[in-house]
Amino acid sequence: MLIVLRPDVTAAQQEALEQLIRSRGLVPHAIPGVARTAIGITGNPGALDPEPYRDLPGVADAIAVSQPYKLVSREWKPDQTVVMVRGVPIGGPRVIVMAGPCSVESREQVHEAGRGVSRAGARMLRGGAFKPRTSPYEFQGLKEEGLRLLAEVRAETGLPIVTEVKDTATLPAVAEVADLLQIGARNMQNFSLLEAVGDLRIPVLLKRGMSATLKELLMAAEYIVSRGNPNVILCERGIRTFETMTRNTFDINAIPMLKERSHLPVIADPSHGVGVRSAVGPVAKAAIAAGADGVIIEVHPRPSEALSDGAQSLDIAQFTELMAGLSKIAEAVGRSL
Ligand code: PEP
Ligand code: MN
Repeated sequence: MLIVLRPDVTAAQQEALEQLIRSRGLVPHAIPGVARTAIGITGNPGALDPEPYRDLPGVADAIAVSQPYKLVSREWKPDQTVVMVRGVPIGGPRVIVMAGPCSVESREQVHEAGRGVSRAGARMLRGGAFKPRTSPYEFQGLKEEGLRLLAEVRAETGLPIVTEVKDTATLPAVAEVADLLQIGARNMQNFSLLEAVGDLRIPVLLKRGMSATLKELLMAAEYIVSRGNPNVILCERGIRTFETMTRNTFDINAIPMLKERSHLPVIADPSHGVGVRSAVGPVAKAAIAAGADGVIIEVHPRPSEALSDGAQSLDIAQFTELMAGLSKIAEAVGRSL
């Protein structure tokens, strides 16, 4: 439930309301907004009756929140959330491009990729160090060494780093380096991992599970935010369908649906979303046209030599060319890169 406060509410009235909520075994969350201040209530297993709250001092209205996800919903917070990642705002007027290799493979590779994507205008560097691979015989990532190399490239280029955290055991190591902690599709419902990143304040990039509904994605985000970490960015990365010509089916519907239902920033991963190099650009453009706050794109200096996801990786020249196209689409929808 959401209690909307009167514009002239006093600090003492607000404090008394929060006390009352706590005394009923519930949890109050103050939500300052541009147009209104509100107090959200969680901790209730079933629906709460708003009636007894409506006439309390300082209260303008009490509204039942209809969705099971609350803290991440637009009902709860109509104002768009902007997540700051080492000074880069995600969810604001600028569309943010994150780019880099699927996996960090060597010092030379990640430096080349970092320099290349930075020159082309990317605002963040991606690169997996702990890789969740379908087969145990595939390249599993450089792990700690990969994190060190990412930090080196950040020092050189100034680009913040987004890298995946695969499990709670390696979270402390990854959290030391990552500016944005990626939770991969395979881990979207790893609830202990969601809780663990919810206890930190480092921004989280939460990718949609390959068979997860949008509601399940929002509930997974709710796990993180309800633990106290409000810095969550949602990511559509394609879902499993009957189609076999592409790796996944990028669900363009997800972008406007998530933007409508949630105040959290929404970005798109066209690389995994389609899985075919030639289609990554068109899908990235479509996502920006549909309202995505950013895109994350796999770029490798030599995709044919990539140890993971080479078939969907752009080389630096292809990425540089794509950036010009993305910029035009962003402008067409009233934004910029
Ligand atoms: C990745 O970003 O390289 C990755 C493994 O993504 P996903 O979890 O979306 O498959
Ligand atoms: Mn990948």
